[in-house]
Amino acid sequence: MSWFSRLTGSKKPDIPSDLWKKCPNCGEVLINKDLPRNLFLCSKCDHHLRMPIWDRIALLTDDNSFVEFDSDMESQDPLNFIDSAAYPDRIKKAVESTDSFEAVTVGEARLEGREIMLGVMNFDFMGGSMGSVVGEKLTRLMERAIERRMPTVIVSASGGARMQEGIYSLMQMAKTSQAVALLNEAGLPYVSLLTDPTTGGVSASFAMLGDVHIAEPEALIGFAGPRVIEQTIRQKLPEGFQRSDFLLSHGHIDMVIHRRQLKPTLSKLFSLLL
Ligand SMILES: [Zn+2]
Repeated sequence: MSWFSRLTGSKKPDIPSDLWKKCPNCGEVLINKDLPRNLFLCSKCDHHLRMPIWDRIALLTDDNSFVEFDSDMESQDPLNFIDSAAYPDRIKKAVESTDSFEAVTVGEARLEGREIMLGVMNFDFMGGSMGSVVGEKLTRLMERAIERRMPTVIVSASGGARMQEGIYSLMQMAKTSQAVALLNEAGLPYVSLLTDPTTGGVSASFAMLGDVHIAEPEALIGFAGPRVIEQTIRQKLPEGFQRSDFLLSHGHIDMVIHRRQLKPTLSKLFSLLL
């Protein structure tokens, strides 16, 4: 008996493993081709799985309204960085597997008829890490928002700064934070949408500087991971630590919103804020 049959009690032949995934919350077997239709929610427990960027863009914008900016901006290798692989090789691999040049996609779109600037981070591209290009693209996005007097939405999903770019990567924290400050001075709303996971240098900069912070249910949001914190303070962390509901109840974020309600919630927010 195969492990699939043991798991599901099914006597059906094995489904090739690239056609399905298991819900990380309840273990339900989910067929990949059904996921986009169901917005990457578990059909059994409603767990919010990570959503590919183009599905995310389709979720938040009106049909065919997204126009991408700076899509061909590519990372350099300023430090000639090599760990177990050379940085340019890692980039090349990420480009091939994700079909985009960097860990963020930015552009303008309409959301229930309203023009917005939208940035969406891609966790599949080197863990959504922020190097110079991610910082530059987001900064340009916010500068465009100021020029055009439009609200900004940034969807974060990131392991943090990109270590292969060392200090250049850390400088993006200051740069993007400064861009958010300019949005603020211009009196334009910026909504930060935190998805699983938002951590490290991204959570320590623009992702936590929104006028409104919205998180998806159960998203991991924090700076250092729970394991590192436990090892440092030598204490057991409370149940649900760094998950969105925990952060909401401790006043760290403003709302936890189900994926199906994100677009109408953003629309309502902008009509209140603008
Ligand atoms: Zn589930």
